[in-house]
Amino acid sequence: MNETNRDGIAHGSSTEKRPAEARRIQANSGSQLRKPLCSLLPASMPSPSLRLAVVGAGAAGLAAARELRREGHAPVVFERAAAVGGTWLYASPAPAAAADPLGAAATHSSLYASLRTNLPREVMGFLDFPFTAARGSVVDARRFPGHQEVLRYLEDFTQRFDLYGLVRFQTEVVGVRREAGGRWAVTSRKLGEKGEQDEELYDAVVVCNGHYSEPRVASIPGDLYFPTLTGADAWPGKQMHSHNYRVPEPFLDQVVIVIGASASAVDISRDIASVAKEVHIADRSAPTSTCEQQPEYDNMWLHSMIDHAQGDGTVVFQDGSSIKADVIMHCTGYLYDFPFLGDDSTITVDDNCVDPLYKHVFPIEVAPDLSFIGVPWKVIPFPLFELQSKWVAGILSGRIKLPSKDEMMEDVKAIYSRLETRGWPKRYTHNFSGGYQFEYDDWLAEQCGHPPIEEWRKLMYAANAKNKAARPERYRDEWDDDGLVALANEDFKKYF
Ligand code: FAD
Repeated sequence: MNETNRDGIAHGSSTEKRPAEARRIQANSGSQLRKPLCSLLPASMPSPSLRLAVVGAGAAGLAAARELRREGHAPVVFERAAAVGGTWLYASPAPAAAADPLGAAATHSSLYASLRTNLPREVMGFLDFPFTAARGSVVDARRFPGHQEVLRYLEDFTQRFDLYGLVRFQTEVVGVRREAGGRWAVTSRKLGEKGEQDEELYDAVVVCNGHYSEPRVASIPGDLYFPTLTGADAWPGKQMHSHNYRVPEPFLDQVVIVIGASASAVDISRDIASVAKEVHIADRSAPTSTCEQQPEYDNMWLHSMIDHAQGDGTVVFQDGSSIKADVIMHCTGYLYDFPFLGDDSTITVDDNCVDPLYKHVFPIEVAPDLSFIGVPWKVIPFPLFELQSKWVAGILSGRIKLPSKDEMMEDVKAIYSRLETRGWPKRYTHNFSGGYQFEYDDWLAEQCGHPPIEEWRKLMYAANAKNKAARPERYRDEWDDDGLVALANEDFKKYF
């Protein structure tokens, strides 16, 4: 499969040329001002090629790089890791976890060893690059494969679309500043090289730094969650965030409290229950009186939230029960964090709401020069990244138009009133559950002249949610939607 940009230039087979081009771009960059390519064109013409900085080479950054180049732009991808994949780069053991159990340093992936995808592979993959067991380099052909298989898929994607040459590995973006002329000064630091920094100018910046690495920690009466707190009243047990969880063995014969009800909390509590003496799940959305032994387990209970913790090691739940515990595992999610952006980004981040973002992508004041790929959650991430990237690429070249600032602000306000109507907290601003994701995806697709999300994918996503609720322990190995799998595989034939 060759990749052809809008100017008809094939990229897929040009593995020799692209790295050279990337090097040329780097060599030309320096820190001196460079005239934007768009300024060489008559004002009435769309700008076909911009020099763009992409922050991150996870699934979002890779999708963005591909779409931006396909549109004719020149992206440079900054990645602080030594490889592509972001979240899917398993780090074992969690670096510095012993010294930093709550994950304050937050620079590594949050995967645990046993992790299998929670979406079927047919649903999960990019739209025109199927994540099927028919792919050449498949090792784990399961429908819900282990994390290594997802990394292999992203590596295949990078290879197939010739993206490696665009990525500057082990290079962290530490600052993004808007210059007077409207361009963006990007400061980066080459890791491991005496912290040397470099500043270059870009026409626009696309932020793809992910939002699963900065732990969010629950706060509970008793100052339970301040790990440095000492003294007779401090809870003496060990606390850690799921960000640092890898394998169950360290919890052998221990009493563990898992806070949370997300996919990670469910997986990790089951993982730990295989070796622990007892596992107690504290779920703040459970009714206050909840204290239930979990079906199929003789050592796992579901409770309402923790009420308080005591200096003798006892943890008291709101349901009135209490337990002396060894460990509290916070599966309490993550925070959006853009430490490299300053005030000139014009966004604020408060309680996981990135504000104001038109369609969860563009800060209105500086659109389209600054954009974010991958902010929504409770979604099928890869196809959404792909469509957002297509949209951003088309807008940057002037092929697709943005509405006026006032219209964009009206749209953002509509998101907030929808949130209020649902009674959702601010931190759910970018939560797409409740069917919104497909409406959003299809809107993006329409803007880009792309077909809507396939009907089978929508149906399969719903079927998986239903199956997960019905078979929480076995949904990854037993299902009833083989008919949809057949439809998907038929559909995929056009990409092979
Ligand atoms: P990331 O994968 O986090 O990539 C961001 C990249 O940016 C990283 O490589 C990082 O090093 C880099 N970066 C960050 N800051 C800088 C900087 N300043 N300078 C340079 N580089 C920087 N999704 C699914 O589809 N299916 C699943 O089954 C699934 N399971 C999941 C399980 C867990 C435990 C978690 C945490 C997530 C899961 N997800 C799943 C969601 C997953 O995060 C997305 O699929 C996707 O990988 C996110 O990609 P991303 O590019 O947005 O972010």
